[in-house]
Amino acid sequence: MKVPVIPTKRLPELLRAMPKAELHIHIEGSLEPELIFALAERNGVQLPYADVEALRSAYAFTDLQSFLDIYYAGASVLLKEEDFYDMARAYLKRAAADNVLHAEIFFDPQTHTARGVPIEVVVAGLHRACVDAEVELGISSALILCFLRHLSEDDALQTLEAALPLRDKFIGVGLDSSEVGHPPEKFARVFARCRELGLHLVAHAGEEGPPAYIWSALDVLKVERIDHGVQAAQDAALMQRLADERIALTVCPLSNQKLRVFPDLADHNLKQLLDAGLAVTVNSDDPAYFGGYINDNFVQLFEAVPALTAKDAYHLAFNSFEASFAPQPAKHAWEHALKACFERFADHQG
Ligand SMILES: [Zn+2]
Repeated sequence: MKVPVIPTKRLPELLRAMPKAELHIHIEGSLEPELIFALAERNGVQLPYADVEALRSAYAFTDLQSFLDIYYAGASVLLKEEDFYDMARAYLKRAAADNVLHAEIFFDPQTHTARGVPIEVVVAGLHRACVDAEVELGISSALILCFLRHLSEDDALQTLEAALPLRDKFIGVGLDSSEVGHPPEKFARVFARCRELGLHLVAHAGEEGPPAYIWSALDVLKVERIDHGVQAAQDAALMQRLADERIALTVCPLSNQKLRVFPDLADHNLKQLLDAGLAVTVNSDDPAYFGGYINDNFVQLFEAVPALTAKDAYHLAFNSFEASFAPQPAKHAWEHALKACFERFADHQG
């Protein structure tokens, strides 16, 4: 569609109001310090932080690994089905308030099974929260099981086998955690098995890692979307491939800033990727840790990069629906709602 002209001063309002999908959110990364402390108390878990403020002030990351260390400490309070339910419920409520119509939510079973929490407990709590949120908040959602890439492929294969009885409760698999030194091809066998099972496939690639990791995520793992992928800009042939095949990138601006991929948001290359014809989307990654949910990502990025326009906002939201794994009729309905939102803003210019 021809995107209506909308004055720059109304952009923040538009970015918040527009319907959108979130495709890159780690549910364990939505755990706010307040909820971490509440769950610690409920479960009698001792935390290595005195209070909420002490924990929040520890969120001064220098790279991906320094973040992951705190992230795994936070997840230690999750023990019972109710804990996973409460965590997902809090995220879905927050996302619905940001006009997220659909969320595809990553979860890391190995973070929990390694602590003795059965995968059935993890999935039951998360799945029930998704079902309830659809009814009560009108937000659609689905779960994507992620393998931790710093662990072995055998561990991932065992995790997949354990998850198979729960196959109807997740739509796909992903690959996350420490990227550098753990290239996608390390997980070739487990992804091949998932493909046979008809699961959707995504992987983190090109966040801190080189463009070669994006190539192997596509060619070896055969993923349908790339999570992050911002390093693609270093490789012209890769950029062409991503554009030609409309392979979506789930970009997370505030995460990139906090983990110093782009220490200054003004230098973020999202606009460059978008202008090159890539199916870019905006997402929050680990919102509790990186200082913002999806609307904060949109608003702060657009403020930092004045070249971004209402037309870009439209494409980013449109891409998020298009790149989702939702059924086609649902995508059409959401895209219609997006168009209606922009027309409403155009009509109220005076
Ligand atoms: Zn991520």
